[in-house]
Amino acid sequence: MKSVNRMIVLNMIRKKSPISRAQIAQETQLTPPTVSSIVKELIESELVKETQLGESQGGRKPTLLTINHLRFYVIGVDAGPSHIKTMISDLQGNIINKRQSKSIISMNEEEFLGALKEEIREIIHEASIGIEFIGIGVAMHGAVDVETGIGLFAPNLGWRNIPIKDSLELEFGISVKVENDARAMAMGEYWFGEYDDTESLVTLNIGRGVGAGIIINGQLFYGAQSVAGEIGHMTIDLNGELCECGNRGCLQTLTTGDAIAKRAKEAMSAKMLNELKGDLSGAKVYELAKEGNEVAIQVLWETGKIIGIGIINLVHLLNPDKIIIGGGVSKASEFIMPGIKATIQERGLTQQVKDTEVIESKLGSYSTIKGAVAVVLFHLFHPIEIT
Ligand SMILES: [Zn+2]
Repeated sequence: MKSVNRMIVLNMIRKKSPISRAQIAQETQLTPPTVSSIVKELIESELVKETQLGESQGGRKPTLLTINHLRFYVIGVDAGPSHIKTMISDLQGNIINKRQSKSIISMNEEEFLGALKEEIREIIHEASIGIEFIGIGVAMHGAVDVETGIGLFAPNLGWRNIPIKDSLELEFGISVKVENDARAMAMGEYWFGEYDDTESLVTLNIGRGVGAGIIINGQLFYGAQSVAGEIGHMTIDLNGELCECGNRGCLQTLTTGDAIAKRAKEAMSAKMLNELKGDLSGAKVYELAKEGNEVAIQVLWETGKIIGIGIINLVHLLNPDKIIIGGGVSKASEFIMPGIKATIQERGLTQQVKDTEVIESKLGSYSTIKGAVAVVLFHLFHPIEIT
């Protein structure tokens, strides 16, 4: 019970700081002595500090409380399919330092682990002396076991069973959390996105593949085998193109950067393709659209409509407060978003569903790595020893 109350008070300070002890008691329905004793403990642990004086409502001005943001730091790692990105973050998600590895594409599992350690060692080395780290969060692409911190399978590189958590904890003596990259992104948006009281959201990462992270009632949703969120393999066209998963017409056969380029090629005249010379990429289609190329604009609009079909299925299944879109393809959101919104308006079952908010990621290209940081913070602020 005590740790539940501690969590409630800590989260109240995190979300509503600066806040007084009296306000915490009022909002949480805990008694003032309980709040005072928990706050005392939190101040002793240096996670919380007292700050400027608040408005007095007669009598002595109350002291306000905030999270002690600069007391502890977290190392975030985005172990994507091509590079390892690392950053040092304060408790508010501010970037203190960041770096990126050379390409990891030709590495095997052991070399990848070596590179991971090397990158973390370097970023610690570059940081000011005396910085205290409370955790390392790793957002790993592919399937992961969050309990053991093992990277189970990374399909892009064919890697299996990488003991990320054990290996990093042994090397650095810092607690390590490993999460799948799409889920980490959802946690990053939930934690740092400042969406007030939003407790249910879905993030869609559309780039080389399509993945979703699901937060329900403030918790990541995994499903029985941690496959929840594999929206890239939602069937959109029964007789469509063959997907890497072996099925036909999956969402990601139509909406990744490569899929957009392929659809654009099919839609363009031979003359137009000839003028373009070199290969057409998803980024190039976006560029053409910005230049006013009608075919490119049409292809991106249709991409939005297809993504919209995937999203409306999700909305009818989970009914989240918000859908947040990130990843490389979302850079073209000015052309894609209208098709998404039109589809949801057209197909939503009720007016409220039609009005489900679909927005671009606030964290942009940092959404995954800040998500890795958020996973560490989530565990710090929601201790597992709750009984
Ligand atoms: Zn598939």
